[in-house]
Formats: sequence, structure tokens, C-alpha cells
Amino acid sequence: KPRVLSGIQPTADSFHLGNYLGALRQWVRLQDTHETFYCVVDLHAITVEHDPALLLERTRRSAAQLLAIGLDPEEGALFVQSQVPEHAQLSWVLECQTGFGEASRMTQFKDKAARQGTDRASVGLFTYPVLQAADILLYQANAVPVGEDQRQHLELSRNLAQRFNNRFGPTLTVPEPHIVTDTAKIYDLQDPTAKMSKSASSAGGLIELMEDPKRSAKKIRSAVTDAGREIVYDPEGKPGVSNLLIIYSALTDRPVAELETAYEGKGYGDLKKDVAEVLVEFVEPFQQRVRSYLDDVAELDKLLTRGAERARDVASATLSEVYRRIGFLQPA
Ligand code: ATP
Ligand code: MG
Repeated sequence: KPRVLSGIQPTADSFHLGNYLGALRQWVRLQDTHETFYCVVDLHAITVEHDPALLLERTRRSAAQLLAIGLDPEEGALFVQSQVPEHAQLSWVLECQTGFGEASRMTQFKDKAARQGTDRASVGLFTYPVLQAADILLYQANAVPVGEDQRQHLELSRNLAQRFNNRFGPTLTVPEPHIVTDTAKIYDLQDPTAKMSKSASSAGGLIELMEDPKRSAKKIRSAVTDAGREIVYDPEGKPGVSNLLIIYSALTDRPVAELETAYEGKGYGDLKKDVAEVLVEFVEPFQQRVRSYLDDVAELDKLLTRGAERARDVASATLSEVYRRIGFLQPA
């Protein structure tokens, strides 16, 4: 089976509907076709100012949510990045293969540093894409599911793998982007021309999977819709209605065209009511599963430790080979 790696930052109390429908749902599906390595990337989460107690809590909450959406810890490796020290070790080696100018061209750093002020941005934020390359290359991943926003970082990972192989001999698998075709891009409910985002959306525009489902339902019912009254998929002319159709379709696996037919002659209110309902039906049992994982933190921590051990089997083999190739003294 080809290998896939992906990670998500524990920087919020809850994943949002965009995270789920745009990325995480795909993680679950990939378990059938790939050997999967999924991690909560806490090393990445400290590249910006953070609160230690909150980071710990969010790491567990993130892992519990990943389990609750259907990641099977027996099927693939589910782990917390800091428990696999090879990530930081390979990252250092790769930093020494990365040009300063090359790293300076990463647009995510430029954006985030501009927001914080360059003086306050950490060196870790600057080298973030190199750590991300280490995450991927450690597992010799063939494929990495990425959104458009991560394309440039994946390109860096590919370049670093090729460069290492050219300089020191074939060692690292060059990963391909796994562009997910049936994935949904979800828009802000209050501003359906902007993507739903934890940092940019207003509370009313963002559906958090862990919030009170009644609150989510209300947000759907007060979503901004468009002029006219027909329920048709038209992202240009009717971004609000189209967003609701996409959400509905993704949650029920009913094609958008089928929904259009089903809603002929009905109004926006009917659509919103139904989307709210299917959302609540998804979220309620999801939250119950999350709570049951969080009720037994000792068990959760054990499960994650086992995941890290599994990941280390692969990661340590890659790192040893990298260390040997680069000329480090081998343990006798
Ligand atoms: P931030 O605003 O801090 O960048 P975010 O809301 O974009 O946060 P991330 O943690 O950056 O969330 O994204 C995690 C994953 O979810 C990524 O794979 C990203 O492509 C995907 N994703 C985020 N928002 C959406 C969205 N609105 N629709 C589809 N996919 C999304
Ligand atoms: Mg983002």
C-alpha cells in the first residue's frame, strides 16, 4: 500500500466544518487504500505564542476528535508529533540543506510574520515548512493530502528530498501531492465569498464541531443567502445557497443535482431547516464519541503512546539512514 502522511495543529478547542469536510473526512477514507500516518502537530503549534496548559488540552481534544470522526488507531498510526523525536532531528538536517532565500520565499511565513510584526515572529515560524518536510519525509510518504494553501510547502518537501538524494545518495521518497477531488471547500456562513476559517471567520460564520449543536443549527438557519428564491447551485451568482447545498451534499452523500431537483418549488427556509437537521444528526453522536475519549484521558494517552511507538519504527529507520548518509558516526 502507498503511504500517506498528514498532520493537523492543535491550535483550537474544536475543528470546524471546513476542516472536516475539506480535509479530515478524506483522512478517514484514505485508510482503506493507504498505509496512513496521522499526527497532531504540537511542535508546529509552538511556532506562535501559546499557553502550555491550553496546548496540552487541545492536543488531547484534537486526538479525540480525530478518533471520533473514524480514524482507526489499529489501522493506521495516530500520534502526537512531539512524542516522535525524529521529527525535530530530521528537521535540523533538512534546515542545513535549505537556502535562507528559499525559506524566505515561503508565503505563509510572510503572511503570518506580517500579521505579527517581523521582530516578534519566531525563527521556528520561519523554519516551519522545513519541519513540515521532515514530517513527510520521515515516513517516506508517497502522497500528502493538501489543500491549495499548502502546495508551496509540499513543493519545498519535494525539493529537499531530491536535493538530499542527489547530494548523499537515494534515501528519501519524493512525495506527490494528493489532490483530493471530491473534497468540499466550505465558505463562511455570514460571508459566503470567504472560506470558513478559524482565524478569519466571525462566530456566526463558523461551525465548530464541538459547539452546542443548537448553536450550529441556529447559525445555519441565519446563514446569509442570496437574492432570488430558487435553490440552484451557482457559486458565482448564489454563493450562500451553493455553500449550503455543498454542505448538505457532503453530509448526506447526495449529489447536488439530486438536491436541486428535490428542492424545486421550495424556499431557502426549507433548505436551511434541513441542512441544520443533518448537521445536528452528524454532530451529536460525534460529540458523544469525543466525550467518551476525553472521559478516559489515561486510556487516550496510552493509545497515543502506542501510536507514537508505531510511527517511530518507521521514523527511526529513515533517520538512521539519513545520519549514515550524511556522515554522522554510527552507534557501535
Ligand atoms: P487558519 O485560519 O488558522 O489557517 P484554518 O481554518 O484554515 O485555520 P487549518 O488548521 O489551517 O484551518 O486547516 C486544517 C485543514 O483544513 C487544512 O487541510 C485545510 O486545507 C482544511 N480547511 C481549512 N478550512 C477549510 C475550508 N473552509 N474548506 C475546506 N477545507 C478547509
Ligand atoms: Mg489555514
